[in-house]
This record gives sequence, C-alpha cells and structure tokens, in this order.
Amino acid sequence: TVKNVSFSYSAGTRALNKIDLDIPAGTTTALVGPSGSGKSTFASLLARLWDPDDGAIVLDGVNLRDLPEDTLHRKVAVVLQDVQLIKGTLFDNIALGHPEATRDDVRAAAQAAYIDDFIMSLPHGYDTPVDRKSLSGGQRQRVAIARGLVGNRSVILADEPTGALDSHTGEQIMLV
Ligand code: ADP
Repeated sequence: TVKNVSFSYSAGTRALNKIDLDIPAGTTTALVGPSGSGKSTFASLLARLWDPDDGAIVLDGVNLRDLPEDTLHRKVAVVLQDVQLIKGTLFDNIALGHPEATRDDVRAAAQAAYIDDFIMSLPHGYDTPVDRKSLSGGQRQRVAIARGLVGNRSVILADEPTGALDSHTGEQIMLV
C-alpha cells in the first residue's frame, strides 16, 4: 500500500506528488505513462533505493523503512534494464538472496524465464561462472527474471525488464 507518497530528487521539482495506490497480493500492476512521468522513480522507492519525502510505503503491514535490509531483499525482487550480476556461478546468480534454494528451485525459475535450455547447453551448466561479457543482454535479463522468480517474493518489480529480449520472448515470459 502506497499512502500519500511524494518524492523530489531536488528542491522545487517533484518527481512524485501525493501518490496513493493499493496493490492487492497476487495481482499484477502495470505503470503506464510517458517518459519522465515518474515510473522508474516509483519503482526505485518500492525497492528502497530512496525513501519518500512524505507519506509511507507499507508492505505486508510493515513500513519499508522498518524492514531489515535482508528481509527487504528477500521480499522484493527487482528486474531492471541494467541487470546486476554477482561474481559467482549461474546458480549463485539465480539463487541470490535465497541461500535455501535448491537446484530444482533454481531450475524451475530458469525454465519459467526461458534460460534453462541455454544454461544446460553449457559444458558446466549451472556451475558456469558468469561475467558480464559471457552473457548477452537478453540472457542477463533472463537470469534476473529467473532470480525474481525464486522463492516466495511479495513483490517482483520490473522496469522494462524485457527491453533487451526480442518481442516474442518477452511475450512468452509475460505469460508465465
Ligand atoms: P519514467 O520512468 O516514467 O520515464 P522517471 O521516474 O525516470 O520517469 O523520471 C521522473 C522525473 O524525475 C523526471 O523529471 C526525471 O528527469 C527526474 N529524474 C529521474 N531520475 C533522476 C535522478 N537520478 N536525478 C534527478 N532527477 C531525476
């Protein structure tokens, strides 16, 4: 639940002005608006990159400000256009934030994000170390989408997550 949230990057210009929004559990909400209207800013606040200047964002009854950081990371997955990869294997990258995730959990998420076939075709499969250069933009996004699908997230935030995928793949993923 978003209550009366306002946010400014600098004094004088408000990026968000008194936003009220209730997103019921189990639903999908799309933010639609012209470039510069505040969609990414809103997503950043939900991911707590910044806190609102006014108002409150409440997740499962708790103000985001009062959620410990590890709980926040467990509850909120962020799939942004510029995917953050960690040093480690593909398994580590998909299971990020969920140390309890099993190989089956990770594979199921990768299948839903249409990246399992590619990973299984690599000589070391899920144990392949990743770096930015070894994956295409689309493959990185699929890894991030798979990451968002592991575990019981409260919120999966996607900011143009399929921008680097061809439109057919984007459609397939949106349908899962
Ligand atoms: P959208 O995602 O809808 O294109 P944004 O949330 O990126 O919109 O931008 C909303 C407003 O905030 C714009 O006026 C933009 O110029 C401004 N803005 C976005 N990011 C920053 C930033 N890091 N610093 C200062 N102003 C920003």
